Amino acid sequence: KAVIINGKEIANEIQNELRATVQSWINNDKKRPKLVAIKIGNDPASKVYVERKMKAANFIGIENYTIHLEENSSQQDLLKEIDYLNKDENVDGILVQLPLPKHMNEHEVCQAIVPNKDVDGFHLQNLGSLASNSNGIIPATALAVKELIIRSNIETFGKNAVVVGRSKHVGLPIALLLHADSRDEIGALDMTTTICHRHTPHTELEKLTKLADLIVVAAGIPGLITKEMVKPGACVIDVGITRIKIDNKYKLIGDVDFESVQAVAGHITTVPGGVGPITVAMLMKNTILAAKKNYDNLKSQ
Ligand code: NAD
Repeated sequence: KAVIINGKEIANEIQNELRATVQSWINNDKKRPKLVAIKIGNDPASKVYVERKMKAANFIGIENYTIHLEENSSQQDLLKEIDYLNKDENVDGILVQLPLPKHMNEHEVCQAIVPNKDVDGFHLQNLGSLASNSNGIIPATALAVKELIIRSNIETFGKNAVVVGRSKHVGLPIALLLHADSRDEIGALDMTTTICHRHTPHTELEKLTKLADLIVVAAGIPGLITKEMVKPGACVIDVGITRIKIDNKYKLIGDVDFESVQAVAGHITTVPGGVGPITVAMLMKNTILAAKKNYDNLKSQ
């Protein structure tokens, strides 16, 4: 039976390290990092996610607040808020909780945040830095996958990886971090990496995942990965989150058929309690990185 990778435990470990980092800043007379979240509308899942992020920020000692905009706010209203925060020297990190209401353009909104405050790492400049192996701000989910691999001592050098999902915010950044050269600035993992997506025929997907030492699934399709698709001893990381309602209660489920895959895999993550909490911790790490960039920037002026 596979070893279950405990995402909550790893996240707590990271959060404690970050708390110590912030404390030592304060001891050196630097100001606390400051994070501002913007939430639009009343989506209950978004509310939970923003609250979790702010709870982690509080624990670590990151100053924070959340701006709530009405569902029917215009994109112009949102861009105005972002512009104001971009110019505020006291604000180190800005995050806009996705998804946005349908009348807004996600791409335009993500590009409006100045790259040095873009703690989600979704700005083209940050994604471009990642693609060219230089240090910008890397999307937190990709960092979370890398961090859990490293902290669980999973062998990666020269091994085969399959990433299922190619979105610009999740699947692609994960694949970039897995495949690139560990000698470059971003510290990637040197894996032979294949990206699969909705047009990969299922029979092909199965052929490829069966060769993989590491499978990362970020498709949002419950039960997509079953035990027939997994090489014995492989590491299976489930990024997918689908919210379903059972008996009037919401439940989160991943993309991996956990019970069956656990019997063949070497390591496996759960949903919830796997990648999710580590993603929140890595978002906080990005906020501290953004604060450092802001500090260096102000000092050089
Ligand atoms: P998305 O809908 O933008 O992308 C889904 C991707 O899956 C697409 O690239 C698509 O081509 C691929 N796909 C769809 N059906 C497939 C199939 N049958 N076979 C192979 N590939 C298929 O979603 P996203 O924003 O990339 O998020 C992916 C999942 O990860 C979602 O469930 C989301 O909720 C979850 N997520 C989790 C975290 C976390 O911290 N754990 C963070 C972000 C997103």
